[in-house]
Amino acid sequence: MTQPASADVIIVGAGTAGAVLASYAARAGATVAVLEAGPDPGPWQALAWPADLIDADTVGTSHDWGYSGPAADGRVLPFPRARVVGGCSSHNGCTQSIGWRGDWDAWGASSPGWTSADLDRHRAHALIRLRIQQPSVSDLQPFQRAFLGAAVTAGLPHRDDLLDPDGGSGVAISPVNAPGSVRWNSAFAYLDPVRGHPGLTVYANALVERIEFTGQPGQPGQPGRATAVVAMIGGRRTRVRAGAQVILCAGVYGSAEILLRSGIGPAADLRGLGIPVVSDLPGVGGNLHDHPTAVRSFAAAPALAGELDRLPRVPDEQVVAKLSTGQDPAGAPYDLHVFPWTERDPAVPAGWRVVVPVALLRPLSRGALRLRSADPAVRAHVDHAFLADQADTERLSAGLAALDPILAGLPLGEELGEPPSRPAAAWLRRNHEHYWHPAGTCAMGDGPHGVVSETGTVHGLANVRIADASVFPDVPRATTAFPAVLVAERMAEIAFGAASSRRSPETGARTGGPG
Ligand SMILES: Cc1cc2nc3c(=O)[nH]c(=O)nc-3n(C[C@H](O)[C@H](O)[C@H](O)COP(=O)(O)OP(=O)(O)OC[C@H]3O[C@@H](n4cnc5c(N)ncnc54)[C@H](O)[C@@H]3O)c2cc1C
Repeated sequence: MTQPASADVIIVGAGTAGAVLASYAARAGATVAVLEAGPDPGPWQALAWPADLIDADTVGTSHDWGYSGPAADGRVLPFPRARVVGGCSSHNGCTQSIGWRGDWDAWGASSPGWTSADLDRHRAHALIRLRIQQPSVSDLQPFQRAFLGAAVTAGLPHRDDLLDPDGGSGVAISPVNAPGSVRWNSAFAYLDPVRGHPGLTVYANALVERIEFTGQPGQPGQPGRATAVVAMIGGRRTRVRAGAQVILCAGVYGSAEILLRSGIGPAADLRGLGIPVVSDLPGVGGNLHDHPTAVRSFAAAPALAGELDRLPRVPDEQVVAKLSTGQDPAGAPYDLHVFPWTERDPAVPAGWRVVVPVALLRPLSRGALRLRSADPAVRAHVDHAFLADQADTERLSAGLAALDPILAGLPLGEELGEPPSRPAAAWLRRNHEHYWHPAGTCAMGDGPHGVVSETGTVHGLANVRIADASVFPDVPRATTAFPAVLVAERMAEIAFGAASSRRSPETGARTGGPG
């Protein structure tokens, strides 16, 4: 494999957000090196993608990084992350939602340029790029149709408004980026149109170890500059000289790990691992959180199982209910998602399991990602501190109770697993899971957790930007793929002036959005 010597723009991670940045950087006329730790199965037309990453009906499992960490009671929970071009957009559930306008506007109030209105044009563009469609009732598999009906019977209005920031509580069919049941990942949507573009090279199997700097990172008025990115590319350690900018899109765990290995983070932790401190930035890796879930599982009723057996294809998840605990600090119209799915389970008499999780969408608990070693082959210690804040337990308990009227209308057999006790606090600690939506390890802002400015630039550095789900100070009140794409679109506009044809202030290159 050829090894890159230098690039105007180095993008680390070709995942959900990284593919977007690569697309705009290439069109801006810069030389762009995209360094992705996982493989690159190539463009969609090459038809070389593994079947599980293409099949939008169920979550893919073949390309996992292997992260795990503690639940509230110390159980070890897996935290799947895809190690492949397209990142988590290449294996996720394909359901799309945007969250609540009030949350985006609160973010924009402290970080100018990030209100819901600021993101409107990006929303419109991403909808087209990702080929997002709104299915109808006739597209629903029998259990999902039953769930929709049960939710309406329980009093929820049917409103398909998951991509409307002014949406309210109710039950909705999920918009999906799944034309013809193909998971239309971020790489198909954004990277494929610029593959072969002069100046753009995607280096697969390129594990980024760290960034090197010059100057005095962290000193007021004297920002440091990234001079190179060090990566193992095809088994060889390579130093890629950095030009105008380095953009980290390695995800919530990966971007924080790379900053920490580069000596940017809490100084005491870094010293303890023998990593020379470049900049004492305590927020890196902190503020980690995800949506905790309370999960009920049942055997499918035999008639439902028979119907599912007769179908040629059964999408796992299609409908989401948005509920309110009435205890949301921001006064939002909903603070819970119920996102039921079905899965084959040979251990269950009728052969199908029905899972009904309720997720708390704005948790207060905050954990941390901490390196165990400076060795990039060793995954970090990842602790979301699930349910550490008592208020999260109280609201998730309320969510659990709110499930009952919907469950009463579903075609369910026996409960699998431990039925909830009331009060539910101890049960939740033993049984909670998560919604696969970690956020916040490189949060935008100036406070104690702040790592990047509103331009995505890491505090104290001149030319290192972060553009992925790690910059959310608070996880969106939504599934996080679409919000991650919005972050990437907005950062691309800031970095490359993507919506205009001006010269980019940062690269000097001619700019223009992907067609
Ligand atoms: C199982 C699962 C199901 C989900 N379902 C949904 C859903 O239905 N709807 C929804 O909206 N959201 C869903 N999500 C969440 C959503 O997919 C993610 O929040 C989002 O894709 C994150 O985007 P990202 O760009 O921040 O990170 P990623 O997409 O994870 O991209 C990070 C990229 O960086 C690469 N990388 C990491 N470290 C390095 C390194 N050191 N060197 C080089 N490359 C590196 C990774 O391999 C990856 O390609 C799901 C997530 C999971 C895991």
